Amino acid sequence: MRLILLGAPGVGKGTQGALLAERFGIERVSTGDLLRDAVRRGTPLGRNAKRYMDAGELVPDPLILDLVREVLSTADSGFVLDGFPRTIPQAEGLDELLGELSIALDAVMVLEAPDEVLIKRISGRRSCPRCGAVYNIHFEPPAAPEVCDRCGTELVQRADDDADTVVRRLEVYHAQTRPLVDYYERTGRPVRQVDGGQPVDTVQDSISAVLAA
Ligand code: AMP
Repeated sequence: MRLILLGAPGVGKGTQGALLAERFGIERVSTGDLLRDAVRRGTPLGRNAKRYMDAGELVPDPLILDLVREVLSTADSGFVLDGFPRTIPQAEGLDELLGELSIALDAVMVLEAPDEVLIKRISGRRSCPRCGAVYNIHFEPPAAPEVCDRCGTELVQRADDDADTVVRRLEVYHAQTRPLVDYYERTGRPVRQVDGGQPVDTVQDSISAVLAA
């Protein structure tokens, strides 16, 4: 199974991607997670990417394409792409890579939700810096406020989840990433739309129904 999850920040790509990866035994490739890991480790890529990420801007395409090339070349059992591609040049780069690997996409899954819903979700998002567990103080709060249920560590908010940066990230999505829906339709790929504003289980059921059809 080879899928792209396309959608704005906060629409649930990470959550749905993790569920799909587990269900189909495929690799979830999140360029956001890979970049945050590079920033944490202080690698040259991380040092370069950080200023773009903190400003809610996109990291330059060549850096992203190098990163993805490395990961996809070894994802033999399939993959779900979360947060990549985000620009037309990235989509073209991915097509080239898929051609080299002689593989095709099974679906481009587009998750949609109104910006107001996304802003509320993102503002409530918290994660555990130790074990990576993710919560939402509005919808899936931890048992004790701001403390991880699993390991008791104090939860943190992602630096780019603050209100101003979120607005910029949504603008960037509408200007640069949403046009990929047209790109994939124009080039004859199976594009499927799912309402990402519903609860997690409902969205997962919708995705399953679409994949089974
Ligand atoms: P995410 O976790 O997917 O929301 O990504 C967080 C941030 O990482 C984005 O706001 C960008 O700065 C950067 N990023 C992640 N994926 C990409 C990508 N495919 N192209 C460019 N920048 C990216």
